Parts: sequence; C-alpha cells; structure tokens
Amino acid sequence: MADFLSGLKKFGLGNLKSEELYEDPKKKKVEVEKPAAKAPVKIVEKDLLYDKKYTCPICDKEFVAKTVRTGKVRMKGVDLDLRPDYDEIDQIKYDVIACPECGYAALARYYGKLTKFQIDEIKSKICANYRKQDYLGEVYSYEEAQIRYELALATAMVKKSKNSEKAYLCLKTAWLIRGEVQRMDPDEPNYEKQKAEKEAQEKELLKNALEGFIMARQSEEFPIAGMDSNTLDYLMAALATETDDFDVANKMISELLTSRAANERIKDKTRALKEMIAEKKAGQ
Ligand SMILES: [Zn+2]
Repeated sequence: MADFLSGLKKFGLGNLKSEELYEDPKKKKVEVEKPAAKAPVKIVEKDLLYDKKYTCPICDKEFVAKTVRTGKVRMKGVDLDLRPDYDEIDQIKYDVIACPECGYAALARYYGKLTKFQIDEIKSKICANYRKQDYLGEVYSYEEAQIRYELALATAMVKKSKNSEKAYLCLKTAWLIRGEVQRMDPDEPNYEKQKAEKEAQEKELLKNALEGFIMARQSEEFPIAGMDSNTLDYLMAALATETDDFDVANKMISELLTSRAANERIKDKTRALKEMIAEKKAGQ
C-alpha cells in the first residue's frame, strides 16, 4: 500500500506513506509502481453526469462533484467479484466525493459521518498538508479518479475507519483500475507493459481488500459495507479465487454451499467459483 499511496506526494500528503492501512504488523506491502495514467474518454459520458452540490464537513466550503444520473446507465454484466460493468460510462470513477479545497474525501456511503476526533485528525493530517486540486473537465479522467480514491483512502486511514470501509475502498480502487485497463487502446505504444503493471496493481488491491474483509468479518456487525453475511462470504470467496488464495476460497465456498440462509442464485455463483479453482489448480 505504501507504494500505491506514493501518488499522494503530489498534493503534499507523502508523509502518509508510513501509515499502516490496517495497522496490522503482519500486513504485506504493495510492491507496484504507480504508472502514468491515461484517459480515453467517450463523448457521451458528460451527458450522463450532473453537478451535485456538497458542503464540506471539514472546511465548510461548498463544492460540486460530478454525479452519474441514475436510471440512464445500462449495466451490461457483473464481474466475478460483483463489479458492475457498464458500456457508456465507468460509474466507479464518480463514486468518491472529494472536497477540492481541503482534501477530505470519502465514498458517498461514508461521506460526512464524522466524530470530533476524526475531524481533528483529518484537519491536522490531511488538510494541513494538502495542496488544492481543480477538477475542471466535463468528466473525470482515470488519473483524476485515481487521485480521488487515493485521497479517500488517505482520509480513511487518518480517521481510523473500520476495516470494512478501507477494504471496500481497496476493492473499488481495484475495480477502477480494471475499468481503465478495459478501455485502454491496444494500439498504443507500451500497451502490454502498462496493462501488466495495472493488472499487478489491481491484484495487490484485491488482496488488500480480502485481508480487510477477513478482519472486518471477525470484528464488525452486519451489514458490513452494506452487505449481508452471504453476500460478503461470496465476495470474499471470489476475491480469494481471483488472488489464488485457495485455502480461504475453499473455506468460504464450503460455508456458502452448506448454508441454509444462502439462496440458490448465490450457491450457483459459488459452484462456478469452485469449478474455476479446480481449473486453476489443474493449470498449475
Ligand atoms: Zn473541505
């Protein structure tokens, strides 16, 4: 995670690199470089957005964040790890609300619900070092979206968020990178190299997400990041499958398949994971 957060240096928050994401001494570090992001943008994207007004709970300034018009975007599918996939727009880019003045950022689900301790921590560790960003385009580029996710992760770390909030942010940042790779132009020079770097970064974030959800499941009450226990167990099984953590995957899969509370739809998806693991193991 330290290297992933190296992007924070450009707005004065490089000192956060030393903060541990989950404060767990056993935690592995992310060993990936942050490659230069590029942003292919479809023209229709701006028509699916509007400016939503917010008042910052930290600095009290008003600002606007681009927001996707609900009901206008069609989903074309759902990935193994529950990422919704859209044609016209990558909705994930617009899920972080970030104050351009002071640097406070959070996913909409967690925006603004702060204790006095958290407000003080954010002021002293984020705002005091943050350099103002401007988001002036009609759409957010992947580079801008990644900055917003980095700020949200930095905010979550200094306000000592629950592990589930940090895990969910890691998951959504991984999804952001996946969406970017999907839209990269294979004819661009360095395509293969950039794709490989981004995919390595995505995989480390998925591992971080799994690690955080494992800790959250042991200590937090459901719903966890908006999920009931079967949904979270399925997601953890999927993340473990994607990151080749077969022990965790098999444990979650057998719990789901024997659960009376899990419905047939989720059991079918779980059986698909089981087959995928068998294929992966056969290929090793
Ligand atoms: Zn602010």
